Amino acid sequence: EAVIVSQDVEKWYDNGFHVLKGVSLNIYKGEVVVIMGPSGSGKSTFIRTFNALEPYQKGKIEIDGIEIAHDLKNIEAIRREVGMVFQQFNLFPHLTVLQNVTLAPIWVRRWKKSKAEEIAMRLLDRVGIREQAYKYPGQLSGGQQQRVAIARSLAMQPKVMLFDEPTSALDPEMVREVLDVMRNLAKDGMTMVCVTHEVGFAREVADRVVLMDEGMLVEENTPEAFFNNP
Ligand code: ADP
Ligand code: ADP
Repeated sequence: EAVIVSQDVEKWYDNGFHVLKGVSLNIYKGEVVVIMGPSGSGKSTFIRTFNALEPYQKGKIEIDGIEIAHDLKNIEAIRREVGMVFQQFNLFPHLTVLQNVTLAPIWVRRWKKSKAEEIAMRLLDRVGIREQAYKYPGQLSGGQQQRVAIARSLAMQPKVMLFDEPTSALDPEMVREVLDVMRNLAKDGMTMVCVTHEVGFAREVADRVVLMDEGMLVEENTPEAFFNNP
């Protein structure tokens, strides 16, 4: 069962740059797909089309059977299905950790505050930062902030999680704690698409590794085959 269907996706930026040149990739329920490739090859742009952060001009993308319109008119239905974690954590600095996590469930999902908080605390526990619930993002390490960002996305109960270089802005000692959270998510069956340069993570966790170059997918393989190529 495909959670994401993308077929011959093409995108040009406003300046005429042809960033995606007919990209097709299906992602199945429970699968972890890692996208690798040189900087500037279009990885970030590609996964940003999956939650309607980037419009595209040709081809088709469906999330759980909902087609993303080229003009992004059904953006809200799509965003409910797709969680995303960025290189920069993008937390609200004036809200506590708990408030960051409950904001969308309360205002978008219309959950009662007590229910949202109960679920948020469970998620914070799951990513190992329950003790930080009443602190502000500025009081946390980068690794802790990224784990809040993951919990915040999970709070909306997405069908699929996108990760765009989630560890690239972190000091080395914090990379592992974020990768551990991602590894556990994968183990729990979350469908995940990850743009990352972390080869160890890709080797151990990915079901498939995809190589992007100059706006095209040029290789797709199991991690074993991908990393053992001569
Ligand atoms: P990657 O994630 O693989 O590093 P990106 O998807 O971020 O690649 O970018 C692909 C290419 O598109 C890069 O050459 C980048 O400079 C270009 N690009 C990104 N955003 C824009 C934009 N808004 N307008 C024009 N070109 C852009
Ligand atoms: P990343 O690879 O982390 O996405 P980039 O440096 O490629 O970061 O892009 C940072 C921001 O600048 C993005 O919002 C991107 O859309 C924009 N951008 C990148 N390249 C261009 C470009 N050539 N023209 C206009 N905007 C660009």
